Amino acid sequence: MASINAFLNGRFLPVEEACINVEDRGSLFGDGVYEYVRVSRGNIFQAAEHLERLWRSATAIEITVPYSREEITGFMAELVRLSGVYEAGIYIQLTRGTAHRTHHFPNGATPNFFMVARDFEPIPPSCYTEGVSLTLLPDERWKRCDIKTLNLLPNVLAKEKARRAGFYDAVLYSELGITESTSSSVLTVMDGVLTTTPQGPWILPGVTRNTVLTLAREDGIPVSERFFTADELHEASEVMITSTRIDVMPVCSIDGRPVGDGRPGPVCRRLSELFCRLLP
Ligand code: PLP
Repeated sequence: MASINAFLNGRFLPVEEACINVEDRGSLFGDGVYEYVRVSRGNIFQAAEHLERLWRSATAIEITVPYSREEITGFMAELVRLSGVYEAGIYIQLTRGTAHRTHHFPNGATPNFFMVARDFEPIPPSCYTEGVSLTLLPDERWKRCDIKTLNLLPNVLAKEKARRAGFYDAVLYSELGITESTSSSVLTVMDGVLTTTPQGPWILPGVTRNTVLTLAREDGIPVSERFFTADELHEASEVMITSTRIDVMPVCSIDGRPVGDGRPGPVCRRLSELFCRLLP
């Protein structure tokens, strides 16, 4: 029997049976928001931080979350129990609901809310021991990247372009400087200072990024949140990417040019170690 690994509008069921009407506004307009929460050894990690961001995203586009934070936390725990996932991610999606297609908000639509729990696809260990390669690509996203919306087409296209060219991912730049990667935050070490793009409409406020910055400050590593250019990125002694899925991952080269000596650096290794200690 298929395992119960989804939750849709109040029901737990196998994801194969979790169906949403094709006129859901998430599919018609990308009119919705999402979250991705980590499960570590069967325990949900940083649920409060992710739900805080879900509320922030939903509020920004005027969707009311149909459950309380306590209810969603309980549903997530039940989903982990029913599905038996262990090292996994829970994808949460909330849309404005199902309605016939009009651009303006429909009258009386009820939001659709679902979650899917899936064990992680393994990441090759070499990504951590040797680092990954990135390529610089223009940031073609909209002007509210701080909202975690379903509109990910520019991210998808940049990731695909990077992959086809043989890179692990793209690092995006705008007229302001480096913003972030297609699905992770970008942190660098320049002159011993952990430097990353400031929060604002140009990046997602990464839960992992914020945790890593706190860990760095507590560990006495100087931190600067400021814009930096592609040239500065090439000169950085270390570059790393962070997200719920990958934790802290070192970058060994950008467009074929080695970062530092081309090996994971001491700050990245230290932050990765400190971060892993937080995992339940
Ligand atoms: N930036 C973007 C564009 C993302 O999509 C993500 C994660 O999905 C992140 C950064 C990292 O965020 P978090 O650490 O909360 O997973």
